[in-house]
Amino acid sequence: MIYNSIIETIGNTPLVRLNKVNKGIKGEILVKVEYFNPGNSMKDRMAIKMVEDAEIAGILKPGGTIIEGTSGNTGMGLALAAIVKGYKCIFTMADKQSKEKIDILKAVGAEVIVCPTNVASDDPRSYYSVAKKLNQDIPNSFYPNQYDNLSNWKAHYETTGPEIWKDSEGKITHYAAGVGTGGSMSGTAKFLKEQNPEVITVGIDTYGSVFKKYKETGVFDENEIYPYLTEGIGEDILPKNVDFSLIDHFVKVTDKDAAIMTRRLSREEGLFVGWSCGSAVHGALEYAKENLKEGDRMVIILPDHGTRYLGKVYNDEWMRNHGFLENKFSGTAREIIS
Ligand code: PMP
Repeated sequence: MIYNSIIETIGNTPLVRLNKVNKGIKGEILVKVEYFNPGNSMKDRMAIKMVEDAEIAGILKPGGTIIEGTSGNTGMGLALAAIVKGYKCIFTMADKQSKEKIDILKAVGAEVIVCPTNVASDDPRSYYSVAKKLNQDIPNSFYPNQYDNLSNWKAHYETTGPEIWKDSEGKITHYAAGVGTGGSMSGTAKFLKEQNPEVITVGIDTYGSVFKKYKETGVFDENEIYPYLTEGIGEDILPKNVDFSLIDHFVKVTDKDAAIMTRRLSREEGLFVGWSCGSAVHGALEYAKENLKEGDRMVIILPDHGTRYLGKVYNDEWMRNHGFLENKFSGTAREIIS
């Protein structure tokens, strides 16, 4: 099979059984490994859909510039689409994001503007505001706005959901996903619940984010908002792509639990995945411990690849500095003996 360009290789990622980290938990736990996408994350799916829908709507014209606020993965997907289709890219990113993500975007020819993390989203310095301003100032530019652009959830409704339904042979009982913009949870959940309304969905949130409290009380509680480290999930806004009616439960996961589970997935399952994958699996297994029974089949989506976090969760010193790794004997055998 010959593909006409790299963007045709997006999707059809594998569903893989967990064998070790779920020990003692009833039911079967499968993960959808999205780093098999060409940009190494699930965000390739929505990036290409946002670009193609904008072309169809006439919002994105030949020679145009794509401007987006991104935690890195959407930027990579947009950059691949831009290269193949002949657009320029400018991305704004919060300074808490991994250096690897910034370098990767530059490697594929994008311009990257780093903005402060700890300012309100409506502050003119935030990465949301800077992206909006650039869009106003640069002629023939397109601002996809992944938070509120509904092509985001539709991409997952059209691809991720059907793939999971087919590969799980329609036997999926639970679907779990981290929630950032909400696109991957909402689109996939909508498709799965249309096939079988009994499918239960579990959204994974972080401490420092508003989602869980909002789902449970209907209150947007500003006290829930404080800085956290995990990248890609949790928000201090309510994006239009989060459809709370499709998310049955939320589980919050700490930065530390997520980091430890990320490392376990690599070392115990051979799944060299990103930090929010640890959040998703830790949170989903917490839910599964209490709620899954024999014969249940849970699918957890793993958004991206571990290379983007080599300087963070995969770095022992970084882990120790954050109090996430207590075992001082985590060096090489030679270091431990001496
Ligand atoms: N994990 C990572 C690493 C991500 O980049 C994102 C996207 N923000 C998510 C999880 C959450 O996905 P979504 O935006 O579809 O809710």
